[in-house]
Amino acid sequence: MYGGDEIKITPGMQRYIDRNNEYLARRARYIREVVKKWKFDTIAVHGLYTVEDAVEDYQGSIIEPIFMSTAQAFRDSDEMAAALAYLIPSWTYSRIANPSTYYYEWTIALLEGYGFDGETSCCSTSSGMAAIMTAVQPFLVHKKHHAHEPRNFVATAQCYGGTYQQFQVRLMEERDIECRWVEDPTNLDEWASKIDGNTRFLYGELPSNPGLGFFDVQAVADLAHSHNLPLICDSTVATSALLRPIRHGADLVVHSTTKSMTASGFGIGGAVIARKGLVTTIDNEALKNDFSLYIKYLPNRDYGPNLHPMQALMCMNDLRTLRSRMDVLSQNTMKVARFLQTHPKVESVEYLGLPDHARHELASRYMWLVDAEHDEQYGRPVNRYGHMLSFCVKGGPGPTRAFFDALQRIWRATDLGRIKSIATIPAISTHQQQGEAARKLAHIPPNLVRLCVGGEHPDDVIADLDQALHKAKS
Ligand code: PLP
Repeated sequence: MYGGDEIKITPGMQRYIDRNNEYLARRARYIREVVKKWKFDTIAVHGLYTVEDAVEDYQGSIIEPIFMSTAQAFRDSDEMAAALAYLIPSWTYSRIANPSTYYYEWTIALLEGYGFDGETSCCSTSSGMAAIMTAVQPFLVHKKHHAHEPRNFVATAQCYGGTYQQFQVRLMEERDIECRWVEDPTNLDEWASKIDGNTRFLYGELPSNPGLGFFDVQAVADLAHSHNLPLICDSTVATSALLRPIRHGADLVVHSTTKSMTASGFGIGGAVIARKGLVTTIDNEALKNDFSLYIKYLPNRDYGPNLHPMQALMCMNDLRTLRSRMDVLSQNTMKVARFLQTHPKVESVEYLGLPDHARHELASRYMWLVDAEHDEQYGRPVNRYGHMLSFCVKGGPGPTRAFFDALQRIWRATDLGRIKSIATIPAISTHQQQGEAARKLAHIPPNLVRLCVGGEHPDDVIADLDQALHKAKS
Protein backbone atom coordinates (compact mmCIF):
# COMPACT_ATOMS: atom_id res chain seq x y z
CA MET A 1 0.00 0.00 0.00
CA TYR A 2 2.84 2.45 0.73
CA GLY A 3 5.02 1.70 -2.32
CA GLY A 4 8.44 0.06 -2.71
CA ASP A 5 9.17 -3.51 -3.84
CA GLU A 6 6.79 -6.36 -3.21
CA ILE A 7 7.53 -7.46 0.38
CA LYS A 8 8.35 -11.11 1.03
CA ILE A 9 6.81 -11.80 4.42
CA THR A 10 8.78 -14.32 6.47
CA PRO A 11 7.10 -16.42 9.23
CA GLY A 12 8.95 -14.27 11.79
CA MET A 13 7.56 -11.08 10.27
CA GLN A 14 4.10 -12.61 10.18
CA ARG A 15 4.25 -13.20 13.95
CA TYR A 16 4.93 -9.48 14.50
CA ILE A 17 2.18 -8.53 12.06
CA ASP A 18 -0.36 -10.78 13.84
CA ARG A 19 0.59 -9.41 17.25
CA ASN A 20 0.31 -5.85 16.00
CA ASN A 21 -3.00 -6.47 14.27
CA GLU A 22 -4.35 -7.61 17.63
CA TYR A 23 -3.01 -4.41 19.19
CA LEU A 24 -4.61 -2.25 16.46
CA ALA A 25 -7.96 -4.02 16.90
CA ARG A 26 -7.75 -3.43 20.69
CA ARG A 27 -6.94 0.24 20.15
CA ALA A 28 -9.80 0.70 17.64
CA ARG A 29 -12.21 -0.89 20.13
CA TYR A 30 -10.93 1.33 22.96
CA ILE A 31 -11.39 4.47 20.82
CA ARG A 32 -14.86 3.41 19.66
CA GLU A 33 -16.20 2.12 22.97
CA VAL A 34 -14.44 4.39 25.47
CA VAL A 35 -12.73 7.51 24.15
CA LYS A 36 -15.36 8.50 21.58
CA LYS A 37 -17.91 8.51 24.43
CA TRP A 38 -15.92 10.93 26.57
CA LYS A 39 -16.59 14.63 26.75
CA PHE A 40 -14.14 17.06 25.09
CA ASP A 41 -12.28 17.89 28.33
CA THR A 42 -11.63 14.24 29.15
CA ILE A 43 -10.17 13.62 25.71
CA ALA A 44 -8.06 16.78 26.05
CA VAL A 45 -6.69 15.61 29.41
CA HIS A 46 -6.05 11.94 28.60
CA GLY A 47 -5.98 11.43 24.83
CA LEU A 48 -4.97 7.84 24.17
CA TYR A 49 -2.46 7.57 27.03
CA THR A 50 -3.77 4.95 29.46
CA VAL A 51 -2.84 3.55 32.87
CA GLU A 52 -1.97 0.29 31.04
CA ASP A 53 0.43 2.13 28.71
CA ALA A 54 2.01 3.80 31.72
CA VAL A 55 2.53 0.74 33.93
CA GLU A 56 3.43 -1.68 31.16
CA ASP A 57 5.73 0.51 29.11
CA TYR A 58 6.65 3.69 30.97
CA GLN A 59 7.35 2.78 34.61
CA GLY A 60 3.98 4.17 35.68
CA SER A 61 4.66 7.76 34.59
CA ILE A 62 1.32 9.61 34.86
CA ILE A 63 2.43 12.19 32.28
CA GLU A 64 3.33 11.01 28.79
CA PRO A 65 7.14 10.71 28.66
CA ILE A 66 9.21 12.77 26.23
CA PHE A 67 11.12 10.41 23.98
CA MET A 68 14.27 12.42 23.29
CA SER A 69 15.61 9.72 21.04
CA THR A 70 16.45 9.67 17.37
CA ALA A 71 15.55 6.05 16.70
CA GLN A 72 13.83 2.88 17.87
CA ALA A 73 15.74 -0.38 18.35
CA PHE A 74 14.20 -3.65 17.10
CA ARG A 75 14.23 -7.11 18.63
CA ASP A 76 15.43 -8.78 15.44
CA SER A 77 15.58 -8.41 11.64
CA ASP A 78 11.99 -9.63 11.23
CA GLU A 79 10.64 -6.85 13.38
CA MET A 80 12.87 -4.31 11.62
CA ALA A 81 11.79 -5.49 8.14
CA ALA A 82 8.10 -5.41 9.10
CA ALA A 83 8.44 -1.95 10.66
CA LEU A 84 10.28 -0.36 7.75
CA ALA A 85 7.79 -1.81 5.26
CA TYR A 86 5.04 -0.13 7.36
CA LEU A 87 3.45 -3.52 8.06
CA ILE A 88 3.36 -2.91 11.80
CA PRO A 89 2.88 0.34 13.71
CA SER A 90 6.27 1.48 14.92
CA TRP A 91 8.07 4.77 15.16
CA THR A 92 11.42 3.68 13.72
CA TYR A 93 13.14 7.08 13.39
CA SER A 94 12.08 10.45 14.79
CA ARG A 95 11.97 12.13 11.39
CA ILE A 96 9.06 9.78 10.62
CA ALA A 97 7.36 9.34 13.99
CA ASN A 98 7.98 9.32 17.75
CA PRO A 99 5.97 8.08 20.77
CA SER A 100 5.55 11.63 22.16
CA THR A 101 4.25 12.98 18.86
CA TYR A 102 2.04 9.87 18.63
CA TYR A 103 0.10 10.83 21.79
CA TYR A 104 -0.07 14.48 20.72
CA GLU A 105 -1.41 13.55 17.28
CA TRP A 106 -4.09 11.28 18.70
CA THR A 107 -5.28 13.95 21.13
CA ILE A 108 -5.61 16.51 18.34
CA ALA A 109 -7.24 14.03 15.93
CA LEU A 110 -9.85 13.14 18.56
CA LEU A 111 -10.50 16.75 19.61
CA GLU A 112 -10.89 17.94 16.03
CA GLY A 113 -13.11 14.91 15.31
CA TYR A 114 -15.25 15.47 18.42
CA GLY A 115 -18.93 15.21 17.52
CA PHE A 116 -18.08 13.82 14.06
CA ASP A 117 -19.36 10.31 13.32
CA GLY A 118 -16.46 9.28 11.07
CA GLU A 119 -12.78 8.77 11.84
CA THR A 120 -10.08 11.45 11.89
CA SER A 121 -6.31 11.21 12.03
CA CYS A 122 -3.53 13.74 12.52
CA CYS A 123 0.03 14.32 11.40
CA SER A 124 2.03 16.81 13.46
CA THR A 125 4.41 19.25 11.83
CA SER A 126 7.18 21.59 12.94
CA SER A 127 5.05 24.73 12.34
CA GLY A 128 1.71 25.96 11.05
CA MET A 129 3.36 26.83 7.72
CA ALA A 130 4.69 23.26 7.46
CA ALA A 131 1.15 22.00 8.16
CA ILE A 132 -0.21 24.10 5.28
CA MET A 133 2.59 22.97 2.95
CA THR A 134 2.15 19.29 3.75
CA ALA A 135 -1.65 19.52 3.49
CA VAL A 136 -1.69 21.10 0.01
CA GLN A 137 1.32 19.55 -1.78
CA PRO A 138 -0.09 16.01 -2.25
CA PHE A 139 -3.00 17.48 -4.23
CA LEU A 140 -0.65 19.35 -6.58
CA VAL A 141 1.24 16.38 -8.04
CA HIS A 142 1.29 15.96 -11.82
CA LYS A 143 -1.50 13.64 -12.89
CA LYS A 144 -0.47 13.41 -16.51
CA HIS A 145 3.29 13.38 -15.90
CA HIS A 146 4.14 16.38 -18.02
CA ALA A 147 5.62 19.56 -16.70
CA HIS A 148 3.19 21.99 -18.37
CA GLU A 149 0.00 20.50 -17.01
CA PRO A 150 -2.09 23.44 -15.74
CA ARG A 151 -2.98 23.23 -12.05
CA ASN A 152 -4.84 25.65 -9.85
CA PHE A 153 -6.49 25.94 -6.48
CA VAL A 154 -8.95 28.39 -4.96
CA ALA A 155 -8.20 30.14 -1.65
CA THR A 156 -9.53 32.95 0.53
CA ALA A 157 -7.57 36.19 0.05
CA GLN A 158 -8.20 37.04 3.70
CA CYS A 159 -5.53 34.83 5.22
CA TYR A 160 -2.37 34.95 7.30
CA GLY A 161 0.49 36.78 5.50
CA GLY A 162 2.71 33.67 5.56
CA THR A 163 -0.02 31.67 3.82
CA TYR A 164 -0.31 34.39 1.19
CA GLN A 165 3.47 34.21 0.59
CA GLN A 166 3.44 30.40 0.39
CA PHE A 167 0.60 30.36 -2.16
CA GLN A 168 1.44 33.49 -4.16
CA VAL A 169 5.25 33.33 -4.25
CA ARG A 170 6.30 29.72 -3.62
CA LEU A 171 3.51 28.00 -5.54
CA MET A 172 2.30 30.54 -8.10
CA GLU A 173 5.40 32.57 -9.00
CA GLU A 174 8.06 29.89 -8.46
CA ARG A 175 6.18 26.77 -9.57
CA ASP A 176 3.47 28.04 -11.91
CA ILE A 177 0.62 26.58 -9.85
CA GLU A 178 -2.15 29.13 -10.01
CA CYS A 179 -3.78 30.35 -6.82
CA ARG A 180 -7.19 31.88 -7.54
CA TRP A 181 -7.96 34.26 -4.70
CA VAL A 182 -11.52 34.59 -3.42
CA GLU A 183 -12.11 38.20 -2.32
CA ASP A 184 -15.49 37.69 -0.64
CA PRO A 185 -15.65 34.16 0.81
CA THR A 186 -19.26 34.69 1.92
CA ASN A 187 -20.18 34.79 -1.80
CA LEU A 188 -20.63 31.19 -2.95
CA ASP A 189 -20.88 32.28 -6.60
CA GLU A 190 -17.38 33.73 -6.39
CA TRP A 191 -15.99 30.39 -5.15
CA ALA A 192 -17.91 28.53 -7.87
CA SER A 193 -16.75 30.87 -10.67
CA LYS A 194 -13.09 30.09 -9.88
CA ILE A 195 -13.33 26.28 -10.12
CA ASP A 196 -12.55 24.47 -13.38
CA GLY A 197 -11.32 21.03 -14.52
CA ASN A 198 -7.74 21.84 -13.37
CA THR A 199 -8.68 22.84 -9.82
CA ARG A 200 -7.19 20.59 -7.16
CA PHE A 201 -8.69 21.85 -3.88
CA LEU A 202 -10.49 24.71 -2.13
CA TYR A 203 -8.78 26.39 0.82
CA GLY A 204 -10.21 28.77 3.41
CA GLU A 205 -9.01 30.40 6.62
CA LEU A 206 -11.69 31.05 9.24
CA PRO A 207 -11.81 33.23 11.21
CA SER A 208 -9.02 34.81 9.19
CA ASN A 209 -6.01 36.54 10.69
CA PRO A 210 -6.33 39.50 11.15
CA GLY A 211 -9.48 40.51 9.19
CA LEU A 212 -11.88 37.99 10.79
CA GLY A 213 -13.08 36.72 7.42
CA PHE A 214 -15.53 33.83 7.64
CA PHE A 215 -17.50 31.61 5.25
CA ASP A 216 -20.27 29.05 5.25
CA VAL A 217 -18.19 25.87 5.71
CA GLN A 218 -20.99 23.45 4.89
CA ALA A 219 -21.94 25.28 1.67
CA VAL A 220 -18.31 25.57 0.49
CA ALA A 221 -17.67 21.89 1.35
CA ASP A 222 -20.76 20.88 -0.63
CA LEU A 223 -19.56 22.98 -3.56
CA ALA A 224 -16.07 21.38 -3.38
CA HIS A 225 -17.54 17.87 -3.21
CA SER A 226 -19.82 18.52 -6.17
CA HIS A 227 -16.56 18.92 -8.17
CA ASN A 228 -14.95 15.93 -6.45
CA LEU A 229 -12.51 18.26 -4.66
CA PRO A 230 -11.48 18.48 -1.00
CA LEU A 231 -12.00 21.53 1.22
CA ILE A 232 -9.02 22.43 3.44
CA CYS A 233 -9.66 24.84 6.36
CA ASP A 234 -7.17 26.73 8.49
CA SER A 235 -8.97 26.82 11.84
CA THR A 236 -6.04 28.11 13.93
CA VAL A 237 -7.81 31.17 15.34
CA ALA A 238 -10.91 29.25 16.50
CA THR A 239 -9.23 26.06 17.81
CA SER A 240 -11.18 22.81 18.13
CA ALA A 241 -12.82 24.13 21.32
CA LEU A 242 -14.91 26.59 19.25
CA LEU A 243 -15.09 25.21 15.70
CA ARG A 244 -14.51 21.80 14.12
CA PRO A 245 -14.85 22.18 10.31
CA ILE A 246 -14.71 18.42 9.57
CA ARG A 247 -18.11 18.03 11.27
CA HIS A 248 -19.46 20.51 8.74
CA GLY A 249 -18.09 18.76 5.67
CA ALA A 250 -14.45 19.93 5.40
CA ASP A 251 -11.96 17.20 4.48
CA LEU A 252 -8.81 18.56 6.08
CA VAL A 253 -8.02 21.04 8.82
CA VAL A 254 -4.67 22.71 9.43
CA HIS A 255 -3.62 24.33 12.67
CA SER A 256 -0.75 26.45 13.75
CA THR A 257 -0.59 24.88 17.20
CA THR A 258 1.90 27.66 17.97
CA LYS A 259 -1.15 29.83 18.69
CA SER A 260 -4.09 29.38 21.11
CA MET A 261 -3.59 25.62 21.26
CA THR A 262 -0.21 26.29 22.96
CA ALA A 263 -1.12 29.54 24.67
CA SER A 264 1.88 29.49 27.01
CA GLY A 265 4.12 30.23 24.05
CA PHE A 266 6.89 27.67 24.48
CA GLY A 267 7.45 27.14 20.78
CA ILE A 268 6.29 26.56 17.25
CA GLY A 269 4.19 23.63 16.02
CA GLY A 270 1.52 22.58 13.58
CA ALA A 271 -0.94 19.83 12.75
CA VAL A 272 -2.84 18.45 9.77
CA ILE A 273 -6.08 16.64 10.60
CA ALA A 274 -7.99 14.68 7.96
CA ARG A 275 -11.21 12.76 7.74
CA LYS A 276 -10.67 9.19 6.58
CA GLY A 277 -11.94 8.62 3.05
CA LEU A 278 -11.61 12.13 1.70
CA VAL A 279 -12.83 13.45 -1.64
CA THR A 280 -10.23 14.20 -4.35
CA THR A 281 -9.51 13.73 -8.04
CA ILE A 282 -6.01 12.42 -7.17
CA ASP A 283 -5.75 8.73 -7.94
CA ASN A 284 -4.01 7.54 -4.77
CA GLU A 285 -5.82 5.13 -2.48
CA ALA A 286 -3.47 5.57 0.49
CA LEU A 287 -3.96 9.35 0.36
CA LYS A 288 -7.75 9.01 0.18
CA ASN A 289 -8.03 6.39 2.92
CA ASP A 290 -5.91 8.03 5.60
CA PHE A 291 -4.34 11.30 4.45
CA SER A 292 -2.50 12.01 7.71
CA LEU A 293 -0.89 8.59 7.83
CA TYR A 294 -0.02 8.84 4.14
CA ILE A 295 1.84 12.16 4.52
CA LYS A 296 3.54 10.91 7.68
CA TYR A 297 4.78 7.69 6.03
CA LEU A 298 5.78 9.06 2.63
CA PRO A 299 6.04 12.78 1.74
CA ASN A 300 6.93 13.96 5.24
CA ARG A 301 9.44 11.13 5.68
CA ASP A 302 11.10 12.40 2.49
CA TYR A 303 10.85 16.16 3.18
CA GLY A 304 11.33 16.01 6.97
CA PRO A 305 9.02 18.77 8.35
CA ASN A 306 7.99 16.93 11.49
CA LEU A 307 7.63 18.08 15.08
CA HIS A 308 10.15 17.72 17.90
CA PRO A 309 8.95 15.40 20.73
CA MET A 310 9.66 18.04 23.38
CA GLN A 311 7.37 20.49 21.61
CA ALA A 312 4.69 17.81 21.27
CA LEU A 313 4.52 17.46 25.04
CA MET A 314 4.58 21.21 25.63
CA CYS A 315 1.60 21.59 23.33
CA MET A 316 -0.22 18.60 24.82
CA ASN A 317 0.03 20.13 28.29
CA ASP A 318 -1.71 23.31 27.10
CA LEU A 319 -4.34 21.36 25.20
CA ARG A 320 -5.59 19.79 28.43
CA THR A 321 -7.22 23.11 29.43
CA LEU A 322 -8.14 24.31 25.94
CA ARG A 323 -11.92 24.48 26.40
CA SER A 324 -12.03 26.47 29.63
CA ARG A 325 -9.21 28.73 28.45
CA MET A 326 -10.95 29.57 25.17
CA ASP A 327 -14.11 30.31 27.13
CA VAL A 328 -12.41 32.80 29.47
CA LEU A 329 -10.30 34.40 26.74
CA SER A 330 -13.35 34.82 24.49
CA GLN A 331 -15.28 36.53 27.29
CA ASN A 332 -12.36 38.85 28.04
CA THR A 333 -12.13 39.72 24.35
CA MET A 334 -15.84 40.47 24.13
CA LYS A 335 -15.49 42.97 26.97
CA VAL A 336 -12.46 44.63 25.32
CA ALA A 337 -14.24 44.75 21.92
CA ARG A 338 -17.24 46.51 23.49
CA PHE A 339 -14.94 49.05 25.11
CA LEU A 340 -13.11 49.75 21.84
CA GLN A 341 -16.40 50.22 19.99
CA THR A 342 -17.28 53.16 22.21
CA HIS A 343 -13.83 54.81 22.22
CA PRO A 344 -13.65 58.20 20.44
CA LYS A 345 -10.16 57.45 19.01
CA VAL A 346 -11.29 54.18 17.39
CA GLU A 347 -12.61 54.20 13.83
CA SER A 348 -13.94 50.63 13.64
CA VAL A 349 -13.71 47.28 15.45
CA GLU A 350 -13.74 43.79 13.94
CA TYR A 351 -14.82 41.07 16.35
CA LEU A 352 -17.17 38.29 15.29
CA GLY A 353 -18.89 38.36 18.68
CA LEU A 354 -20.21 41.91 18.21
CA PRO A 355 -23.88 41.68 17.22
CA ASP A 356 -23.55 44.39 14.57
CA HIS A 357 -20.54 42.76 12.86
CA ALA A 358 -21.27 41.88 9.22
CA ARG A 359 -20.36 38.22 9.76
CA HIS A 360 -21.75 37.83 13.28
CA GLU A 361 -24.79 35.86 12.20
CA LEU A 362 -22.76 33.53 9.97
CA ALA A 363 -20.05 32.95 12.62
CA SER A 364 -22.75 32.34 15.24
CA ARG A 365 -23.96 29.35 13.24
CA TYR A 366 -20.54 27.70 13.57
CA MET A 367 -18.69 29.00 16.62
CA TRP A 368 -19.91 27.31 19.79
CA LEU A 369 -18.11 26.62 23.02
CA VAL A 370 -17.87 22.85 22.92
CA ASP A 371 -19.94 21.04 25.57
CA ALA A 372 -21.42 24.23 27.07
CA GLU A 373 -24.72 22.34 27.22
CA HIS A 374 -23.06 19.79 29.56
CA ASP A 375 -21.47 22.49 31.70
CA GLU A 376 -23.08 23.24 35.05
CA GLN A 377 -22.31 26.94 34.57
CA TYR A 378 -24.23 27.20 31.27
CA GLY A 379 -26.42 24.12 30.71
CA ARG A 380 -27.19 25.31 27.15
CA PRO A 381 -25.31 25.95 23.87
CA VAL A 382 -23.19 29.11 24.11
CA ASN A 383 -21.48 31.01 21.28
CA ARG A 384 -17.85 31.98 21.78
CA TYR A 385 -15.71 33.83 19.22
CA GLY A 386 -12.08 33.42 20.26
CA HIS A 387 -9.53 35.95 21.45
CA MET A 388 -8.44 37.74 18.29
CA LEU A 389 -9.91 41.07 17.31
CA SER A 390 -8.74 43.95 15.16
CA PHE A 391 -9.50 47.65 15.10
CA CYS A 392 -8.58 50.79 13.20
CA VAL A 393 -7.22 53.85 15.00
CA LYS A 394 -8.59 57.20 13.80
CA GLY A 395 -6.17 59.43 11.88
CA GLY A 396 -4.16 56.88 9.88
CA PRO A 397 -0.72 55.28 10.34
CA GLY A 398 0.85 58.09 12.46
CA PRO A 399 -1.63 58.01 15.38
CA THR A 400 -1.75 54.20 15.07
CA ARG A 401 1.99 53.95 15.70
CA ALA A 402 1.79 56.53 18.51
CA PHE A 403 -0.91 54.44 20.18
CA PHE A 404 1.07 51.24 19.63
CA ASP A 405 4.29 52.68 21.07
CA ALA A 406 2.42 53.87 24.18
CA LEU A 407 1.17 50.42 25.20
CA GLN A 408 2.52 49.41 28.59
CA ARG A 409 1.15 46.01 29.66
CA ILE A 410 0.16 44.76 26.19
CA TRP A 411 3.19 43.33 24.41
CA ARG A 412 4.22 44.53 20.96
CA ALA A 413 4.97 41.35 19.00
CA THR A 414 4.02 39.43 15.87
CA ASP A 415 2.43 36.76 17.99
CA LEU A 416 -1.08 35.56 18.57
CA GLY A 417 -2.97 33.12 20.77
CA ARG A 418 -0.95 33.84 23.90
CA ILE A 419 -2.11 33.86 27.51
CA LYS A 420 -0.52 37.36 27.56
CA SER A 421 -2.22 40.14 25.59
CA ILE A 422 -0.27 40.95 22.45
CA ALA A 423 -0.79 43.54 19.71
CA THR A 424 0.70 44.11 16.29
CA ILE A 425 0.23 46.38 13.28
CA PRO A 426 -0.12 43.83 10.43
CA ALA A 427 0.81 46.31 7.65
CA ILE A 428 4.33 46.70 9.11
CA SER A 429 4.73 43.13 10.39
CA THR A 430 2.83 39.93 9.55
CA HIS A 431 1.47 41.29 6.24
CA GLN A 432 4.32 43.66 5.31
CA GLN A 433 6.01 41.46 2.69
CA GLN A 434 2.98 40.99 0.49
CA GLY A 435 2.83 44.70 -0.43
CA GLU A 436 0.10 47.31 -0.65
CA ALA A 437 -2.04 45.72 -3.40
CA ALA A 438 -2.26 42.33 -1.68
CA ARG A 439 -3.00 44.00 1.66
CA LYS A 440 -5.91 45.79 0.01
CA LEU A 441 -7.16 42.46 -1.33
CA ALA A 442 -7.03 41.05 2.21
CA HIS A 443 -8.66 44.21 3.71
CA ILE A 444 -5.64 45.27 5.79
CA PRO A 445 -5.36 49.09 6.01
CA PRO A 446 -2.22 50.72 7.53
CA ASN A 447 -4.10 51.84 10.66
CA LEU A 448 -5.31 48.33 11.53
CA VAL A 449 -4.17 46.91 14.87
CA ARG A 450 -4.50 43.22 15.64
CA LEU A 451 -5.05 42.53 19.31
CA CYS A 452 -5.07 39.13 20.90
CA VAL A 453 -6.55 39.44 24.37
CA GLY A 454 -4.94 37.24 27.04
CA GLY A 455 -5.83 35.94 30.46
CA GLU A 456 -5.19 39.19 32.40
CA HIS A 457 -8.22 40.79 34.01
CA PRO A 458 -9.95 42.56 31.08
CA ASP A 459 -10.18 45.82 33.07
CA ASP A 460 -6.38 46.01 33.10
CA VAL A 461 -6.21 45.40 29.35
CA ILE A 462 -8.83 48.10 28.82
CA ALA A 463 -6.94 50.57 31.04
CA ASP A 464 -3.77 50.04 29.00
CA LEU A 465 -5.62 50.49 25.70
CA ASP A 466 -7.34 53.63 27.01
CA GLN A 467 -4.15 55.37 28.15
CA ALA A 468 -2.39 54.45 24.87
CA LEU A 469 -5.31 55.61 22.70
CA HIS A 470 -5.21 58.98 24.42
CA LYS A 471 -1.62 59.33 23.15
CA ALA A 472 -2.70 58.55 19.55
CA LYS A 473 -1.93 62.01 18.16
CA SER A 474 -0.57 62.54 14.64
N1 PLP B 1 -2.26 30.04 10.07
C1 PLP B 1 -2.64 31.14 10.74
C2 PLP B 1 -4.09 31.53 10.77
C3 PLP B 1 -1.69 31.91 11.43
O1 PLP B 1 -2.11 32.99 12.12
C4 PLP B 1 -0.32 31.53 11.38
C5 PLP B 1 0.70 32.33 12.07
O2 PLP B 1 0.43 33.42 12.56
C6 PLP B 1 0.03 30.39 10.64
C7 PLP B 1 -0.96 29.67 10.01
C8 PLP B 1 1.46 29.94 10.57
O3 PLP B 1 1.82 29.29 11.74
P1 PLP B 1 3.32 29.12 12.29
O4 PLP B 1 3.79 30.49 12.70
O5 PLP B 1 3.19 28.16 13.41
O6 PLP B 1 4.12 28.57 11.16
